[in-house]
Amino acid sequence: LRLTRADLDALPSYVPGRSPADLARELGLPEAIKLASNEVPYGPLPGVVEAVAEAVAGSHRYPDMGVVALRETLAQRYGVDADRIATGCGSVALAEHLVRATCLPGDELIYSWRSFEAYPIIAATSGATSVRVPNDAGHGHDLTAMAAAVTDRTRMVLVCNPNNPTGTAVRRAELDRFLDAVGEDVLVVIDEAYREFVTDPEVPDGLTYLDRPNVVVLRTLSKAWGLAGLRIGFLVAAPAVAAAVRKVVTPFSTSTAAQAGALAALAEADEVRRRCALVVAERERVTEALRKLVPEVPASQANFVWLPLGDRAVEFGRACEARGVIVRPFAGDGVRVTIGTPAENDAFLAAAEAALG
Ligand code: PMP
Repeated sequence: LRLTRADLDALPSYVPGRSPADLARELGLPEAIKLASNEVPYGPLPGVVEAVAEAVAGSHRYPDMGVVALRETLAQRYGVDADRIATGCGSVALAEHLVRATCLPGDELIYSWRSFEAYPIIAATSGATSVRVPNDAGHGHDLTAMAAAVTDRTRMVLVCNPNNPTGTAVRRAELDRFLDAVGEDVLVVIDEAYREFVTDPEVPDGLTYLDRPNVVVLRTLSKAWGLAGLRIGFLVAAPAVAAAVRKVVTPFSTSTAAQAGALAALAEADEVRRRCALVVAERERVTEALRKLVPEVPASQANFVWLPLGDRAVEFGRACEARGVIVRPFAGDGVRVTIGTPAENDAFLAAAEAALG
């Protein structure tokens, strides 16, 4: 008896970062360090816990399905109209809603590879056809090749900027050329999950492209804003696109707690900027130290770094775990390491030195 789709058997599952409590138990250590899911290493922002607790007191009621207060706050903060905004259960859910809102079975979805591991899963479960364009020699998007891959079946292109897991970022001139080449019949989704960590002034803010009706900017409160566990992301798009996404979104998927937590976090923008600056300073320090071991480590614009270790990736991941540090190996390709506190980064660098030095 077969009750579910046979094609799902061949689909890889999304792999979350390993639990540090499990690893600590296995190693008999008081604690392990998790640098595997691109979270920020600080606790929730001031006011978030209280706001969520207060919201939970009313949790016998459904959330505001229109997410009005949060959409209006986001609209004000980012200088756009609220009708351009849709929220979802993490930006990964919004990426899926976008595919559902644009692609019919057989329609093509282009993305660079390697990129965010959820993209192929989202494409496959939605019936869209994945078109993967290999990263360039510097581990970043090859936007010329991505534009050339567009056919009359292409409905969407995902541009991950900065790219997870390599940390590379496309620049304004390249993106301008790409958008001109693609035209306005294809949705271009700029996934900016790590935007707050960008320091290169040549890397454009996706929101500056909103005069193009086919551009969608995907953001999340999981990373810089520290709300990964509450599951909340948002997109900014042309009003018609945002309305279509709000239509396909699972009803009530932005919970009362997520809405309250997001509002409290957004009131702490100065603290977020301060925390991001600490992460960026550590990113530069870790990159410099790693390049003594692996000279090809690309410059990162995100809160993680990429070690292009090829066949040594899994072995390196194991060596770090043996020293109580969880990183994210991608077999045969490389290892992504999230920037943590200075002490966590030191522990990782010691493990890297032991494994590679
Ligand atoms: N986009 C990218 C590029 C990511 O790396 C992630 C998280 N790993 C997401 C989207 C999804 O984040 P969330 O669903 O927590 O908003």
